[in-house]
Amino acid sequence: MNGLKHLPKNGSVGVVGGGISGLFFTYFLNLKRPDLKITILDKSSSKEKRVGGWIHTHVDTKSNLKLEKGPRTLRGVSPGTSLILQSLIKMNPDVRDHIMYIEKESVANRKFIVDPKDHKKLVQVPPITKESFLKFMKSGASEGFFRSLIYEYFNKSKNVVERDESIYDFMKRRFGNDKLVSNLASALFFGIYATDVKDLSANYCIPRLVNYEKSHGGIFRGLFSKNQPKVKTNGEDVSDFATFLNIDEKSMLEYYNELKKIPLIAFKDGMSTMPNKVRDYLQTIPNISFKFDYDVDRIDVDNNSLTVNNDICFDHVHLSTVSDNFTLNNDRFMEYNKSLGRGTNVLLINVYHPKKNLIHPDIGAFGFLVPKNCHTNLLGCIFDSVIEKNMKNFYNQRLLIDSDSLSNGNYTKMTMMVSYNGKEIKDINKNDCMENAVYKMFENQLGLSKDQVTSLKKDKDLLVEFTFADNSIPIYSPGKGFHSDMKRDIRTILKEDLLKNNNISVGGFKFADGPGMPDVVVESLRAVKRLTE
Ligand SMILES: Cc1cc2nc3c(=O)[nH]c(=O)nc-3n(C[C@H](O)[C@H](O)[C@H](O)COP(=O)(O)OP(=O)(O)OC[C@H]3O[C@@H](n4cnc5c(N)ncnc54)[C@H](O)[C@@H]3O)c2cc1C
Repeated sequence: MNGLKHLPKNGSVGVVGGGISGLFFTYFLNLKRPDLKITILDKSSSKEKRVGGWIHTHVDTKSNLKLEKGPRTLRGVSPGTSLILQSLIKMNPDVRDHIMYIEKESVANRKFIVDPKDHKKLVQVPPITKESFLKFMKSGASEGFFRSLIYEYFNKSKNVVERDESIYDFMKRRFGNDKLVSNLASALFFGIYATDVKDLSANYCIPRLVNYEKSHGGIFRGLFSKNQPKVKTNGEDVSDFATFLNIDEKSMLEYYNELKKIPLIAFKDGMSTMPNKVRDYLQTIPNISFKFDYDVDRIDVDNNSLTVNNDICFDHVHLSTVSDNFTLNNDRFMEYNKSLGRGTNVLLINVYHPKKNLIHPDIGAFGFLVPKNCHTNLLGCIFDSVIEKNMKNFYNQRLLIDSDSLSNGNYTKMTMMVSYNGKEIKDINKNDCMENAVYKMFENQLGLSKDQVTSLKKDKDLLVEFTFADNSIPIYSPGKGFHSDMKRDIRTILKEDLLKNNNISVGGFKFADGPGMPDVVVESLRAVKRLTE
């Protein structure tokens, strides 16, 4: 593909969306083609000029209380995390002061799930100590655990299933029953996608496991086989990032190998640090500008240029985000976008108490998730205060709480995630949520007594805030064209088609390998590579 055809010298590029995908796309494109004039179009208000999309750390200017209203951590093992951090450091070396991490051995790396047999119990999930393993084995979460694993190993698949199954159907078939998926695995997928495993495509979410069955007849057979299918390793990806960023490949690989050992990365002043630092850098570049209050709902393509909203013309447009009502003259794209429909609806409930620690040390952890068999719309809860109390700076190992006047140790901060799929915001009654979600969780999962909960109901210090993540993460259900072979996947087909026929590049939630921040940033880099190489 000829990059110059798409991007003439001194040409103009419109980037739809000033979330992390659009910001990093702009950064990467400017690195390769500083001659281009890039305009970032975002629908958020021109008063606030807020970038970052779902990433939103709310800071109370009076008390300096920080509450995350969206994502809060990056996974060290994702190659995209090293790309993000190295890019930020390249933009501004001082960012090192902000990069925090959680050690593997830290309590903040423990994860619990609600016992499907007894909703008042939290069970720690592997990897765990000997004692917690015994507790795990006695709980409802492990029902049929070993039998399912043995069944999977000994039942070699005879016929390859070509259709895209749901994770639920795939796991039920492979493990001989639905216990493992309903009692355990479903909790993990709720945590990532906020969606039921019955509505999630196996080809999209677990392509490696699907491919193991196709190539070796089973998951464990594939995992334990010496004869692994040839795929690009994470290390190879990281080397590519180094070449792109023009930084030393060896030190980038060393950096990635360090990060790989780290479960969680965060930022001292919250996740908004990440988009804000990119924005601050981009604002110093004369060829880059931002246009807020600009809701892109259509693009018209003619031979020479692209017109956004019948208003602004560009030589090239990058869609870092695609709304469900967006219009473009490309039937396959429209069909795919329509088939995805609206994203998932999640209510985030931030709970904060400045003087009491409501999380008992026995359950001190990253938080807990709720498996499908609990039949509740509570998806999980993140124990932000446990994470904060264990965060250290990645470069000087200094604990966060030394520098944070808020954190005297005796406080609670957590974020509950409650699904309201199938409902609209207007149907949600906050008082009901307080009773049926917040106070219920205090009693059931946090193990507080009835008296303690009654006193908290009257406690003026208890702060509870509601944030509606409406139409957020797409529901990647089976039958949308996802394929375990990326070359045959609808996203790959569309990326090529849109670039060739519409002169449009795409990224973000609907086109990346996964829904996480590292996934979408890697996708932004790939989009720039497709355009410029
Ligand atoms: C509740 C929640 C928790 C999450 N937690 C994590 C986590 O802990 N770790 C992790 O890695 N990932 C997490 N994610 C995923 C993470 O938020 C996404 O990967 C990331 O925000 C995607 O960035 P984006 O730029 O692609 O899209 P978005 O964040 O959606 O940004 C899109 C931007 O485009 C703008 N926009 C939208 N439509 C239009 C339009 N029509 N015209 C103009 N502008 C438009 C928006 O205003 C926004 O600024 C979470 C997501 C949610 C919803």
